[in-house]
Amino acid sequence: MEKWPIGVFTSIDAGLGVKLEVAHELGIPTIQLHAPRPETRTPEHAKRFLDRLGELGITLTAVFGGFEGESYADIPTVKRTVGLVPPETRAERTREMKEIADFARVLGCDVVALHVGFIPHDRDEPLYRDVVKVTQEICDHCAKNNQRLHLETGQETADALLQFIQDVERENLFVNFDPANMILYGSGEPIEALRKVGRYVRSVHCKDAKWASHPGQEWGQEVPLGQGDVNVELFLRTLAELGYDGPLTIEREIPHEPERQKREIGYAATLLTELKKKILGS
Ligand code: MG
Repeated sequence: MEKWPIGVFTSIDAGLGVKLEVAHELGIPTIQLHAPRPETRTPEHAKRFLDRLGELGITLTAVFGGFEGESYADIPTVKRTVGLVPPETRAERTREMKEIADFARVLGCDVVALHVGFIPHDRDEPLYRDVVKVTQEICDHCAKNNQRLHLETGQETADALLQFIQDVERENLFVNFDPANMILYGSGEPIEALRKVGRYVRSVHCKDAKWASHPGQEWGQEVPLGQGDVNVELFLRTLAELGYDGPLTIEREIPHEPERQKREIGYAATLLTELKKKILGS
C-alpha cells in the first residue's frame, strides 16, 4: 500500500462511523470499521461485507470494538460506562471483544482496536491490575489470530498510557493515536503526547478539536479537521518524523447530521491530500 493512504471511520449498524458508501462516493481507499452488532457478526455478513469492499476497491485497516451501554455524553459518564474498566460489564465485554477479534479475522483484518476506558492512575489499585490482566487476556487472544490490539488514546496522559503498555507486557499491543481526543478529554498537548508514545503508534485518527475552558472537567469541542487546536500539518510532520506510514483515518463524530458529516469528511480528505503532497512531495 502507498504511504499514508486516506481512510475514514465507518460502521454498518453500530457506532459513530459513516456508511461504506460515503467512503466510496468520496473516493477514500481505506476504512476502519466499528464492529457491527452481535447479530450482524456472522460469517454470512462478513462474506457479504468483504464482497462489497472488493467491488468498491476499499481496504479494511482496523476493526474497532464497542459495547452496548457505552455513553460518551460527558466525562463522568465515559468513566462509568466505557470500555473494560467498569467491573460489572468487564467479563461480558471481554468475551465480546474476543468475538469481535474473531469476526475481524474472518474479514482478513489483523488490527483490532478499542477504547479500554479510564484506566486508574494508581498502579497499586486492584482495579488497575484487573485492567492490565484483562488487556493481556485480549492481547493473547488476538495473538492467536495473528492480530495486533490498538488502544485508542485520549482518556490517559501519554505517560500513563506508556506505563500501562509497559505493564501489560505484550508484543502485539500498540496505539491508535487520536490527537483530538487528547484535547477533548484534556489529557495533554497532542503533539507532545504523540512524540512520547510514537514508537507504539500504528494507526491514527485525523480529527480536530478545541480545548474546553476547564480541560479534563468538561468536554472540549470537536470541530472539522483543520479548524481546531490540533495543528494538522504539525501532526502529519511529526508522524513523518516518527516513520509512520500507515493510513490517515478521518473521524468526524456527528452522526445526527449525515449530510454535513459527509461534506466535512470530504474537506478533510482534500486537506490531508494537500498536506501529504506538501510533506511527502507526492
Ligand atoms: Mg478516535
